[in-house]
Amino acid sequence: MKIGILGGGQLARMLALSGYPLGLEFIILDPSKDAGATRLGKHLHGQYDDPALLAELAEEADVITYEFENVPAEVAEFLAEHTQVYPAPNALCIAQDRLEEKNFFHQLNIPTADFATVNCLEDLQQAMTSIAYPAILKSRRMGYDGKGQIVLKSSGQLAQAWDAMQGAPSIVESFVPFQREISIIAARRASGEIVFYPLSENIHQQGILRVSECCKNDALQHQAEDVVVRVLNALDYVGIIALELFDVNGKLFANEFAPRVHNSGHWTIEGAETSQFENHLRAILDLPLGSTKARGHTGMVNFIGGAASTERVLEIPHAHIHLYDKDPRKGRKVAHATIRSDDASQYSQSLQRLLKLAQSTDDS
Ligand code: AMP
Repeated sequence: MKIGILGGGQLARMLALSGYPLGLEFIILDPSKDAGATRLGKHLHGQYDDPALLAELAEEADVITYEFENVPAEVAEFLAEHTQVYPAPNALCIAQDRLEEKNFFHQLNIPTADFATVNCLEDLQQAMTSIAYPAILKSRRMGYDGKGQIVLKSSGQLAQAWDAMQGAPSIVESFVPFQREISIIAARRASGEIVFYPLSENIHQQGILRVSECCKNDALQHQAEDVVVRVLNALDYVGIIALELFDVNGKLFANEFAPRVHNSGHWTIEGAETSQFENHLRAILDLPLGSTKARGHTGMVNFIGGAASTERVLEIPHAHIHLYDKDPRKGRKVAHATIRSDDASQYSQSLQRLLKLAQSTDDS
């Protein structure tokens, strides 16, 4: 079986690495000559909407998936006319547009921040008569890792903030006073079987994920499962999904979902019985899903801007390094490391050492 992947970054790379034991081959479309995943399969080098490359991809791949949600929706729709594309393009269309996504959550009675559509300065001024400060102005499309977002603290800032959006269709949303940011990662296969991973607690700085820790037996696990199952079933979803949630005094508010494997699930590589990458492949091939049980205490730290030396990481007990084969660049995720231990205090000690090491190379 050959899996086609749109995008050849670290997520595609880890999908391919987990697919080899299953006997899978990979064909990867990516515009960059040296994208990290392309050494692990056939590389179709060109733009995502190149008709000849898309025809080749549809012809060669048995199933196509993607590693990021900004793949043009028309491309996924075109491919879906020729071969199986999972998750189906409807999920992609919703996840690409923050307004569609928030409306979708509302249709499913899933709580979110208060929000309003903003297409001009007057819209923003009007919206801020009913939304409390602080609030966040976000472009509807192409935003990730906090990009295209401006925090609004007072009405005096509105004109300047709207100018900075350069006319991009946007939404404004209230700031959610969360105690924790968490995500739930789940997989659903075509025949309807669903599995859930234990919640991840996620720490972001400047909008970029730094640390995710697996929360075993979390009090909000069932509430999060109930929310994500509504999303999965409404979309007749196939594959891994990651739903990002804010915990406000034990009540969950949805922020966004990613129709793909997710950075907050990287601890599952060593920390779960079956990784999110393997379960994504199993789901899109309609194979039995693997156990999502956590193996002891486990978490993950990102290396941003540059990675520490492999030796420094591996001298930390229970640490595992995952390098993405990417050149260091300011603010760029270039690697992550996981910790997994049966012993809670050993786990915390190792995680603290790993965090210090990651901070020493972080340039953002
Ligand atoms: P996003 O791109 O929407 O995932 O936003 C990146 C990060 O900004 C989130 O992980 C939060 O830390 C923060 N953030 C985004 N929206 C809100 C909100 N409405 N209230 C509080 N924090 C937010």
